[in-house]
Amino acid sequence: MKEDDFADWYLDIVEKANLSDKRYPIKGMNVWTPYGWKIMRQIDSYIRQEFDATDHDEVCFPLMIPEDQFAKEKDHIKGFDEEVYWVTHAGLNELDVRLVVRPTSETAMYPMFSLWIRSHQDLPLKTYQIVNTFRYETKQTRPFIRVREIHFFESHTCHVSEEDAQCQIEEDIEILERIAKKICLPYMLCIRTDWDKFPGAHYTVGIDTSMPNGRTLQMGSIHHYRTNFSIPYDITYEDENGEHKHVHQTTFGMSERLVGALIGVHGDDNGLVLPPGIAPFQVVIIPIVSKKTTVDVMGAARETAKVLADAGIRVKLDDSDARPGNKYYEWEMKGVPLRLELGGRDIENGVVSFARRDTGEKGTIDAKDLVPGVRMLLDVISEDMLAKAEEIQRSRIAEIDSMEDIPQDKILRLGWCGCPECGHRFEDTTEFKILGFPYHPEPFSGKCIVCGKPVDKAAYAAHTM
Ligand code: ZN
Repeated sequence: MKEDDFADWYLDIVEKANLSDKRYPIKGMNVWTPYGWKIMRQIDSYIRQEFDATDHDEVCFPLMIPEDQFAKEKDHIKGFDEEVYWVTHAGLNELDVRLVVRPTSETAMYPMFSLWIRSHQDLPLKTYQIVNTFRYETKQTRPFIRVREIHFFESHTCHVSEEDAQCQIEEDIEILERIAKKICLPYMLCIRTDWDKFPGAHYTVGIDTSMPNGRTLQMGSIHHYRTNFSIPYDITYEDENGEHKHVHQTTFGMSERLVGALIGVHGDDNGLVLPPGIAPFQVVIIPIVSKKTTVDVMGAARETAKVLADAGIRVKLDDSDARPGNKYYEWEMKGVPLRLELGGRDIENGVVSFARRDTGEKGTIDAKDLVPGVRMLLDVISEDMLAKAEEIQRSRIAEIDSMEDIPQDKILRLGWCGCPECGHRFEDTTEFKILGFPYHPEPFSGKCIVCGKPVDKAAYAAHTM
């Protein structure tokens, strides 16, 4: 059951809905099975649409990075050196310069950016790529949530000034808002503590959602680098006055953890529940063929599927020989948002029966209003799924004013003065992690939970996945 044992429930859904095969002989490098990959492709295609629409150019950089390039930014290498894979040989020869398999692409891209950018007219430079990245994960692996080969997108931008880079972060947050709405996921934006920010960043905004076990899952992050990378990588431009200046940079990335979040936030004891925005099949049609009727049920089902597909709705006609009950079970497990049933009597009455995956609600649509009827239902399902998930996330937040008797399964809202000593003391005493101050500050009147100093903005803490 989802509520009782989230870890087992999660693995069970991944297996029964056939999203990923973990039997590949490298731990943490799982195989995307066809249905899982269809979901990821839907998400990727929406992400491409968003970045293309905001004037980002898609690029594709090599997987390997020479060690000398990788090592240029000292904090960055320090943050990653325990979790990168190395290529040390080519054929029978030992390499003079070892190669890193990218854990993220700053150090692959920035030497090239320093060649690409000459003048202020080359700025802003806005790029993104959707690739796999590799990290030697030592904690217990879990499909989509903790893996060693990670599918993700990363956008990298360069700007003339810190303010311009800051505007980019605002745009990233707008893009994030649209992605989150598409996949019906509530999220929190917190500025990470200095000891938890991305190695090399000026600041990091973590993007977290809450999971049924009360822990938060970081789905991605947004970083402002200032000139922390452009100085070691010598990325400069000539301004209007002929002066050479370093660019200011940002990145934004989210990973296949989005799929993990979808499973955890929306799934139930009958399986996945997919948001219509990214479901590979938004509608499944089950023909109910009976010997009693003379109506051509299968013909009507094919026609219904064609009408929906022609209208741009992603539809699957299940015309297999399995019993309707078995088909219901399978497509519920796979999370298809809307099931249409078509039997002889429905056809005679000029209606199509439907069942919603998210609420189980059943009803009929007039066959002549099929397309607008289905569209309206899909919209309502999306809105309801997001509203329900937001409500649940809100209910998981508890305000605390003491380090005694802390509810272990909640996200904590608390007063923190912001100083590292109090932060570390809180984390060590409670074993909660400080997520940070909300990116959009929340008014708060209270005291630092450790030193008692008055504070006027809230901070958040949680157990994390
Ligand atoms: Zn304090």
